[in-house]
Amino acid sequence: MNRERMEYFRKLLLLEKRELLNQMKRNNRFGLNNPEQDHELSSLDNHPADTATELFEREKDLALFYQAESYLDEIDLALSRIEQGIYGLCEECGRPISEERLEVIPTARFCLEHQREVRDEVPKGRPIEEEALDPPYGTKEKVRREQAGTDDEDIWQMVEHFGTSDTPLTYGRGIEEYQDMVVENDEPVGYVDETEGFLVTDLYGRERGFVRNRAYEEYMDQP
Ligand SMILES: [Zn+2]
Repeated sequence: MNRERMEYFRKLLLLEKRELLNQMKRNNRFGLNNPEQDHELSSLDNHPADTATELFEREKDLALFYQAESYLDEIDLALSRIEQGIYGLCEECGRPISEERLEVIPTARFCLEHQREVRDEVPKGRPIEEEALDPPYGTKEKVRREQAGTDDEDIWQMVEHFGTSDTPLTYGRGIEEYQDMVVENDEPVGYVDETEGFLVTDLYGRERGFVRNRAYEEYMDQP
């Protein structure tokens, strides 16, 4: 990049910096210098919602402030690279960043190709142990789901009966009762096959008869 172009970008960056600083000053560092936003005499009042609003405003101000501050750092970095005469060169491969790109992002530190790499460095994968876990906790392929033993779904069903924070509204229309919301709520608890609920077996698993309990009544009542 020649001197002239370098000077052009220096002015562009200085302009950007001045605007940003003015903007920060104008709204009082995004409101962070205001003791309070909602003009109440004290934040210790009887309105927890006000406190929440105040907190939200603060967090927003803080986020905007940090964003502006880190942009300011980027501008300063670009300016120092101009001083060193290395502005506009990709920090990864050293090749010139296209001037079109610099027009749009004068603080760009990487060429398009390497910017993509930097961005992709952000870990977006799932924890590795999930590969070994069965769904729904892991990504391991669903194998033999219909096993008779106690699985995670059974465990969920057991604890779900004690109640969740779900309401019938969570599921939209078609739910008449709270009981309808639980997973397979008509499934027997404690046994798999319906007849197991009332068949009596001996120590060796041989069927020895049955008892007339609720499971038996329900089984007989079926159409
Ligand atoms: Zn590069």
